[in-house]
Amino acid sequence: MKTVLIIGGGFAGCAAAHQLSLLDGWDITLVEKAPFLGGGVKTHWHGGHPFTYGPRHFLTPDEKLFDYLHKIVPMRKCPEHEFLTYVEPDQQFYNFPIHKDDIVRMPNREQIESELRQITGAINARNLEEYWIGSVGESLYRKFVDGYTRKMWEVDDCKEIDDFAWSPKGVALKEGTRACWDEAISAYPIAPNGYDDYFEISTADTSVLLDTTIEEFDLENRRVLMKGDWYTYDLIVSTVSPDVIMDNSHGELPFKGRDFLKIVLPVEYAFPKDVYFVYDTSNEIFTRMVEYKKFTRHQSDSTFIGLEIPSKSNRLYPVPIKKHVAHAERYFADMPEGIISMGRAGSYKYIDIDDIIDQAMAMADQVKAGGLDHPVPLHGDWLRSVRAEIEDMPLDPAANG
Ligand SMILES: Cc1cc2nc3c(=O)[nH]c(=O)nc-3n(C[C@H](O)[C@H](O)[C@H](O)COP(=O)(O)OP(=O)(O)OC[C@H]3O[C@@H](n4cnc5c(N)ncnc54)[C@H](O)[C@@H]3O)c2cc1C
Repeated sequence: MKTVLIIGGGFAGCAAAHQLSLLDGWDITLVEKAPFLGGGVKTHWHGGHPFTYGPRHFLTPDEKLFDYLHKIVPMRKCPEHEFLTYVEPDQQFYNFPIHKDDIVRMPNREQIESELRQITGAINARNLEEYWIGSVGESLYRKFVDGYTRKMWEVDDCKEIDDFAWSPKGVALKEGTRACWDEAISAYPIAPNGYDDYFEISTADTSVLLDTTIEEFDLENRRVLMKGDWYTYDLIVSTVSPDVIMDNSHGELPFKGRDFLKIVLPVEYAFPKDVYFVYDTSNEIFTRMVEYKKFTRHQSDSTFIGLEIPSKSNRLYPVPIKKHVAHAERYFADMPEGIISMGRAGSYKYIDIDDIIDQAMAMADQVKAGGLDHPVPLHGDWLRSVRAEIEDMPLDPAANG
């Protein structure tokens, strides 16, 4: 029996445990510093309402990934869901992705129409600003993307955002249905406890150590110090940031975080039918409001809104700027054989739940085939992995169908 240690019991750690348990011959241990599994996808309760920190609905263009999860935690598809964006100067809510039929309601519609007639495309875009101006023109970019993105990533200028998929075929301006995800699967677990059963089922054959923090790492020898004793493994799969397991040897990797406000309102629904999120592009401090019962179908005469505020209090979003990605790459280059780094922080990549399942499947395949060429398991196709942008506002509308 070979031994593997998985560090972190979020979606990535649990998915990795599940995929390795499906291979023969692995004795699996998972350490999680929190008293529960699931990380950010764990369901919590407030005012009688179930919620997760951030929406965490399951979005995928890949039937195989949906089928995998649906077999373990039955899912309800929600193809109808719409996102709105509040544009304060217009005092209007518009659909996001930007919808052609909303332009007629915009005060500067003539300017917008004229810019749309002159757009040059995004094929040579070097950064987010060039991408959007090339795709929809200056006015729509300023209205929908510029302020929001600067707030979301805490940057002064969207030209700083230079690492995501640039799709020359992207549909930046939507026509037809207002549903946000009409060309991919959008779903949420049916059970009131959301994805929680997944974390138990996926780790059924794993020794799970909750409330456990590793005190020291000796990656060269695949050893860790836990509760005063050293333990050696044949393989270590880390889902935490590379700087954590490598003693900050190249300096701290930057992440963006979120604070989360929980608001219960005395109405059955706050948002219009089919609207699940509202983005705020103004200079108010919050980015997004989510009405959770739209996902959970929780029955109550009150509703629950989660409000997200960019913050430095946690490390949730790897920053999509090339110099930071190169910084993470320096860590990966130094990782000895037998160390795998995956999940959102572990890959230092803005990936979503479906990408993480896909990555865990690819990781197990590569382990079975004899090992990995790079500590971060290669998975899916490039466009699909960066599609994760949609979860906090699509940077790449191509990913949005
Ligand atoms: C606000 C927000 C909203 C999102 N919404 C969506 C969405 O709608 N749809 C979607 O598909 N994806 C969404 N995502 C992304 C998706 O949820 C994440 O990509 C995914 O859950 C990451 O899983 P993970 O296991 O890599 O990380 P995490 O969930 O962060 O898990 C890491 C785990 O490691 C543990 N840990 C950390 N350090 C240590 C240590 N030193 N020792 C032991 N344990 C440690 C943590 O406690 C945690 O449990 C969202 C992300 C965020 C931040």
